[in-house]
Amino acid sequence: MSYDESQQPTRGRSGRSTLTLAVAALVPTAVAGWLVWQGMSGPDGPDAASAAGVAASSSAASTPAPSSASGARRDDDVPGGTAPAEPSAPARPLAGKVVVIDPGHNPRNRDHTAEINEPVDIGTTTKECDTTGTSTDAGYPEAEFTLDVSHRLRDLLEKAGARVIFTHDDERPFGPCVDERARIGNTAKADAAISVHADGSASGNRGFHVILPALVKGGGADTTAIVGPSRDLGEHIVGDFVRETGSAPANYLGEGTGLDVRADLGGLNLSAVPKVFIECGNMRDASDAELLTDAEWRQKAAQGLADGIRGFLKKDHRN
Ligand code: ZN
Repeated sequence: MSYDESQQPTRGRSGRSTLTLAVAALVPTAVAGWLVWQGMSGPDGPDAASAAGVAASSSAASTPAPSSASGARRDDDVPGGTAPAEPSAPARPLAGKVVVIDPGHNPRNRDHTAEINEPVDIGTTTKECDTTGTSTDAGYPEAEFTLDVSHRLRDLLEKAGARVIFTHDDERPFGPCVDERARIGNTAKADAAISVHADGSASGNRGFHVILPALVKGGGADTTAIVGPSRDLGEHIVGDFVRETGSAPANYLGEGTGLDVRADLGGLNLSAVPKVFIECGNMRDASDAELLTDAEWRQKAAQGLADGIRGFLKKDHRN
């Protein structure tokens, strides 16, 4: 009970296989798109080994935009007619974009079980305000993992010019509740939102997956407008997460696609902006836990997320 992960129930709901198959068909497109993007964007171009899932180089933490030295003065340079602008690699490619990062759970939720068990409306039904999250067998809490990865991701996105908003940053006694987590993204009119998690599944279940919003409509929930762009965001993240971390898509759901679709998460049901969850690995598996507790790996995970978000935003879905 102390690590009730009821927000992420055991798998096997009806309808899953249909959804999974539909998602599976889309993944090769995402990976192909990633390769094309890499080919256009410079220094760490197409790399067959990485694309196949081999661990990326240890310099994954730093992928500075190429030719950024003159990037800031590009406008002044244009009249001279010299080097044409490289629209795929500006110095601050995410300038003007807003990204909401939602660090899953809260390290102090465990001290506020009454409050976080209060039901909130998630549109289609009610659900507890928040959950404690899981932990590794050695006691590294998911809620600390999510904050750490979120901080790393924020730094990378801000460096690329994005404005980053957190749903919480360890300053609250508990929560926020899942409905508020969604509302923060909506109020910010975020171009993209991501909820960072690690799973608490059975030992032997390994790998990461991205959770996409299902099409839900009911009460205050209507994901009609975000299902498509959220899937696009998720597919970008899967390809880049594989490349940066070397981790494989989950071996226990999603049939190897690294994608899952769920209708039971308030944080997705109530979102009006493109949003996905990432389960970076399984804290209850010893091999995954070894990665999740390694700061260097967490930096790679953040880089994969940042690259995926950047790839998604470059397509400028909000027009
Ligand atoms: Zn979680």
